[in-house]
Amino acid sequence: MAEYKMPAQWIFVIAAAWGSSLLTSGQTLFYHRLTASLSGILEGIMLPESVIRSLAMKTDSKILLLVMDGLGGFPIFNGQTELEAAQTPNLDALTARSVLGLADPVSPGITPGSGPGHLGIFGYNPLKYEIGRGVLEALGVGLTMTARDVAARGNFVTLDDERQIITDRRAGRIPTEVNQVLCAKLRSAIPRVDGVEIIIEPGREHRFTVLFRGDNLQDRLTDADPQRNGLPPQPTTALDPGSEYASRVINQFIERANAVLKKERPANSVVMRGFAKYPDIPSMTDLFQLRPAAIATYPMYRGLAKLVGMDILATGETIADQIQTLRAHYSQYDFFFFHVKKTDSYGEDGNFEGKVRTIEMVDQAIPDLIQFNPDVLAITGDHSTPSALKAHSWHPVPFLLYSPHCGVDQTQRFTELECARGGLGHIAAADEMVLMLANALKLKKYGA
Ligand SMILES: [Zn+2]
Repeated sequence: MAEYKMPAQWIFVIAAAWGSSLLTSGQTLFYHRLTASLSGILEGIMLPESVIRSLAMKTDSKILLLVMDGLGGFPIFNGQTELEAAQTPNLDALTARSVLGLADPVSPGITPGSGPGHLGIFGYNPLKYEIGRGVLEALGVGLTMTARDVAARGNFVTLDDERQIITDRRAGRIPTEVNQVLCAKLRSAIPRVDGVEIIIEPGREHRFTVLFRGDNLQDRLTDADPQRNGLPPQPTTALDPGSEYASRVINQFIERANAVLKKERPANSVVMRGFAKYPDIPSMTDLFQLRPAAIATYPMYRGLAKLVGMDILATGETIADQIQTLRAHYSQYDFFFFHVKKTDSYGEDGNFEGKVRTIEMVDQAIPDLIQFNPDVLAITGDHSTPSALKAHSWHPVPFLLYSPHCGVDQTQRFTELECARGGLGHIAAADEMVLMLANALKLKKYGA
């Protein structure tokens, strides 16, 4: 997507709104409506990369970005959201010293995947850079991609006895150890297809990743996955002539995998989706002059961080492990992405209580994080995952920014409602990075 240029008619509208502020009190309602619709228009405006690149400077200050995946919710239990229902004394105390806002990860009304959601909070325009799920998975399991690769995410699945219908898209969530054995079988049986090298890496439970490595492979491909149980398997189809070769190779691979897995139970077939080549994306060092590191327990988020040039720090499964990792590497970096997954997992399960408990666990860790004394501490999510919807949603995401320079608003708790009346207002998620950099005193003045 081209970088933004303001159309002349919008400048007129802004001028009109400015003029309306001089109106009498009887016209206040009109003014508020106009400015409300204006904020909607302006929200889509992002600072061009060339500008941020020219302003960013390297300093010793440190930024800690805590992401609770799928953080936002809406009222379901006792008329409360998960953030409202949670006991969060530490976040509350921090809120009183911070400034809050609400952020749209992509655009108002758009429900993002975790890929675009994270690109937004990392300061990138998620509409400009498209990252296939396969690429994220590949990076997350530690595969190094080349420009010749098409990456895909795979599931082991269960087909019925006639091999007509997928009865379980997760093959009963087979243990990871079984997955590893099956991947080893596929590796030795199918090292190449039509001259294309096949690289297979098991993930957790029923998930695996494949890199198709060869010349002339393109990724304009439909999913080889009906996405639901009770439907027949489907091949991938090329969406342009350049991708036809890749579609033939992938469909051949699936056929051969079926032959290998025929006698296995319950994992007797595979589906594949998210076919994608590696995107060309500038690093956070290039754009923001940062030395960034990621502390994330789940592969996909480590992959996403790697994609924007973060170093991936080895860490354990718990928040305490992650804090230990932060301590061990705190002097080496000036930007830390600290990712907590479970808020999203519980949201997707419709588990309100589980999401509340996870928020409370994060709250318990806040004093430890503050002890590092980062110049900027930001807390947000990559999108909302309300338990009420059991899915990602389009609702704007709570954002908290603490720094000695942040100014404060009158908010008392870190909740959706309080964020809605926070001093930062309603912003695009990509602007969070600009605010973090500014509050860390890492941005030069714009213009003379
Ligand atoms: Zn997410």
